[in-house]
Amino acid sequence: MTFAQAPTTPPSLQLPWQEGFAQLGRSFYSPCLPTPLPAPHWVGRNDAFAQTLGLPDQFWEHPEVLQALTGNLVLAGSAPRASVYSGHQFGVWAGQLGDGRALSLGEIQTNTGLQEIQLKGAGPTPYSRQGDGRAVLRSSIREFLASEAMHGLGIPSTRALCVTGSPGRVRREEVETAAVVTRVAPSFVRFGHFEHFASQGQIDELRALADHVIAHHMPHLQTLEGAPRYVALLQEVTQRTAQLMAQWQTVGFCHGVMNTDNMSVLGLTLDYGPFQFLDGFDAHHICNHSDHQGRYAYARQPQIAYWNLFCLGQALMPLIDEQAPALAALESYKATFPSAMDQAMRHKLGLSDAHEGDRALVEDLLQALQQDRVDYTVFWRRLSVAVRESAHSTHAFEPVRDLFLHREVFDAWCTRYLERLGAANRQATGDAMLRTNPKYILRNHLGELAIRQAKAGNFAMVQDLLQVLHAPFDEHPTYEAWAGLAPEWASSIEISCSS
Ligand code: AMP
Ligand code: MG
Repeated sequence: MTFAQAPTTPPSLQLPWQEGFAQLGRSFYSPCLPTPLPAPHWVGRNDAFAQTLGLPDQFWEHPEVLQALTGNLVLAGSAPRASVYSGHQFGVWAGQLGDGRALSLGEIQTNTGLQEIQLKGAGPTPYSRQGDGRAVLRSSIREFLASEAMHGLGIPSTRALCVTGSPGRVRREEVETAAVVTRVAPSFVRFGHFEHFASQGQIDELRALADHVIAHHMPHLQTLEGAPRYVALLQEVTQRTAQLMAQWQTVGFCHGVMNTDNMSVLGLTLDYGPFQFLDGFDAHHICNHSDHQGRYAYARQPQIAYWNLFCLGQALMPLIDEQAPALAALESYKATFPSAMDQAMRHKLGLSDAHEGDRALVEDLLQALQQDRVDYTVFWRRLSVAVRESAHSTHAFEPVRDLFLHREVFDAWCTRYLERLGAANRQATGDAMLRTNPKYILRNHLGELAIRQAKAGNFAMVQDLLQVLHAPFDEHPTYEAWAGLAPEWASSIEISCSS
C-alpha cells in the first residue's frame, strides 16, 4: 500500500491547526509521515470527548477521518512529526529513545485550549530503533479505555479520542493485528525530553524547552527570570507529580513502567502499557511481568516518582546552577505527597477534617486488606454504602465484614472507625463517600473480555465500558456484573511490556 496524501480535505473537516511544539525547531523533532494500514475500521470512538473538544459535527462520518486517524492520509494543515527524547529505564540510563511509535499530527485549537493529537502505532519513525512502530489491538484497547477511565476518576491523564483497527499483521510473541490509538493532551513533553538535551550538552535547547513548557502550560511562572524560573518549573512538576501519585495510590492504579521517558511534565498519566488497577489489595503487587525486581511495584510508585524527579532536577541543573534551590524544590515532594495522600484517604473514609491518629487508622486498614487480599475497590464501595445504611440499620457493615477472612481484625478496626466518625450525619457522609469511592474501575479481566470480543469482530463491549468508565461513581444497573469481584482466571492474565 502506498502512502496517500489527502488531495483535498473537505471544508467541513478543516481543523484549526496551530503550531505548538514544532515552534521549538528541528532539534526537537523529525518530520515523519505515518505508514498506511490496510482496510481500517473503527474499534472505539469517544463521542463525548469529541464534543468536549468541539470537533466539527459529523466528525466521525467523514470517511477521511477513519483514514487519517489510522495514518492512511494526512489532513490538510497537519504536519506529522516524531519528537526526540532520552531517559532512564528501570533505573539505568538508556540514552536516546524518542517517539518510536507515536506520531504527532500537530496541535489544534479546541474548546479546551491547544491540544496535541498523536497517533500511536502508525508506523516507524526515525526513533523506532529495532521496533516496528506498531501497536497491537489488545494494547490499543487497553490504552483507550484506561485513559478514559482515569479521566472518569478525575485523575489527570492523556486522553483518547478513538482506536482504529486493521487486518494488518504485527509480530509480537505471536502474530496479532494492528491498531492505532488517537491520543490527545495539551502536551506530551516528558522528563526524558529534558534529560535528552541535558545529556547532549544542548543547553540552548534545554532552556528553549523549559521556556516553551512555561509559556504554554505554566504561564504563572513567566514573570520569573533566570535560575528562579527553572527552579519554579522543577517545583511545579514536583507538585503535580506528587498530587498524581497520591491519586494513583488511592485508586489502586499501578502504572507498570515508570521510566523517566514515561513521566509527563504536566503531571498527566502517560503511556499506558502493562498498567493494572488492583483487584485484591497487595502493596507489593507487580503488574508488569517484565519487571522481575519489582522496581515498579504498587507501593514503590511514590518513591520511584521522586527518583524520577531527581533525574529531571539533574537535567535542569545547567539552568539552575546552584544545588540548594533545586534540592529544596524536589524536597517539597516529601511534604506534598504525604499530605495529599492523607487528605485523599480521609475523603475515602468520609472524614471531613484531620485528626491525630487518622494515619494509623488508614495504615491498620491497609494492613487488614493486605492480610486477606480484600478487593480494594469493592471494599471502599461497600464501606460507603454501609456508612449510608448505618443511618437506619444495625447490620449495615455486614457486607463489608464478609470481605474479610480475619473478621475479628475488621471488627476491631470498624469499632475504631465508627468512633472516629462520631456524630457525623451517616447518610450525608455515605453519599459523599459514594462520590469518592468508584464503583467501576478498568479491571484487567474487563479489558480482557472487551479485547476477546473485539478480536472476534464485536466492539460493543469496548464502547459500553467506555460509557461506564466515564461515570465510575454512578450506578449502572445493566452493568452490575462489572462492579463485582474479579473472577478466578483474572490472576492468570499476564501483561508484559510487549504491546
Ligand atoms: P515504552 O516502554 O512503551 O515507553 O517504550 C520505550 C521506547 O521504545 C519509546 O521510545 C517507544 O517509542 C519505543 N517503542 C516501544 N515499542 C515500540 C515499537 N513497537 N516500535 C518502535 N518503537 C517502540
Ligand atoms: Mg513510553
